[in-house]
Amino acid sequence: MKNIIILGAPGSGKGTLSKQISDKYKHHHISTGDLLRERKKIQDETGKLISSLIDDGRFVPDDLILKIIQEEMIKNPSFILDGFPRNPQQMQMLSRMLEENKKTEKPIVVILQIGMKTAFERIQNRAKSKDREDDQSDIILKKRMTEFMKKTLPVINHYTKFSDSIILDGSQNIDKVFEDFNLKYDEAIV
Ligand code: AMP
Repeated sequence: MKNIIILGAPGSGKGTLSKQISDKYKHHHISTGDLLRERKKIQDETGKLISSLIDDGRFVPDDLILKIIQEEMIKNPSFILDGFPRNPQQMQMLSRMLEENKKTEKPIVVILQIGMKTAFERIQNRAKSKDREDDQSDIILKKRMTEFMKKTLPVINHYTKFSDSIILDGSQNIDKVFEDFNLKYDEAIV
């Protein structure tokens, strides 16, 4: 299995698909969102900064994310990146890191497409069962969607044009998304 980058809007199912792939192929799941939520529990200066940004639906600074990602990628040469890169600057940072670290294989990009209405409904449902502050309010949810459209869509457009990428319909049920992933992955790597 190649290294993988999973991209998509909030609620598109990135975390779920990453877990399915990591269970099956034993790749390490690197979720920047999970790592940040873990880090914010330590309420030092950095933890407070992270809380104030992610609980308000805004991105955290690139240098902080880069530090987290570098540590994880060094520890785990086989990985699924979930939630990174999220803007064009991070995309450039990643391509520099991959160039410098010749041993790390170039990842394949998986894009989960979903309509905004379905994504919203999914997150509103998740808010009932999972304790994520940024899921709890529609205002914050709208901010996250806006961040995605302004900053992450250009990254997706770039990868679609210039990299090996797989596009999946993220609005389907989780088993169907995983089935499509397996089929398209096999087609993509031949
Ligand atoms: P996620 O769990 O991927 O939806 O991420 C939750 C939140 O963590 C996002 O709304 C951002 O505030 C923050 N975050 C996660 N990944 C990144 C990233 N690569 N760059 C900046 N902020 C991020």
